[in-house]
Amino acid sequence: MILLSDPQVADVPVRDCGEPLVEIASAPAIALDPRERDEEGAYGRVRAGVLDRLCAASEKLPDGIGFLVVEGHRSSAEQARRFALYEDRLRGSGITEAAELRRRASAFVSPVEVAPHCAGAALDLTLVDDDGVELDMGGAVNGHRTGDEKYCPMDAPGLTDRARRNRALLARAMGDAGFVNYPTEWWHWSYGDRYWALMTKAGSAPYGPA
Ligand SMILES: [Zn+2]
Repeated sequence: MILLSDPQVADVPVRDCGEPLVEIASAPAIALDPRERDEEGAYGRVRAGVLDRLCAASEKLPDGIGFLVVEGHRSSAEQARRFALYEDRLRGSGITEAAELRRRASAFVSPVEVAPHCAGAALDLTLVDDDGVELDMGGAVNGHRTGDEKYCPMDAPGLTDRARRNRALLARAMGDAGFVNYPTEWWHWSYGDRYWALMTKAGSAPYGPA
């Protein structure tokens, strides 16, 4: 498994195409959840091409099921704050070696320089029914923050059949639209960032920090 801290990710060149960040709320088919809302409203924006692909993925979902986006863009300052916070948590659990701290933290929080959310390229999202009720995915979005790390990986063992089916539905819709999943977080999908470029062998990333 390639983590975001892997030097191969930072080695991918960025050739930013200059596409603007757009409001996810401008797409009526996509629901936006306020739980990660920030003052500037960055959480509710992604690159235009990312939103286009999300809308295409949404059309492929079965009737009565839609996407609920929890977070899109994130500022570099906010990303750095979260990385430091998570390292502190790990330190508190007895990990003291700097390289090990960085490696463990980047399983769940990306180092700023390669952060897919900072590029406006990533979406944290789940599936909801017509009433806006989240489908059973076998664990919460951002489950690593609540100590529920066991079920964060897409291929986590011990999931119920229903959770596994719902994850497969999410993976099919997003994968067909060109997104790449970060395997330690079932809810995290990106298009056009360095990690995506490495995984798809695109050669360069069209989206850098925005
Ligand atoms: Zn994410």
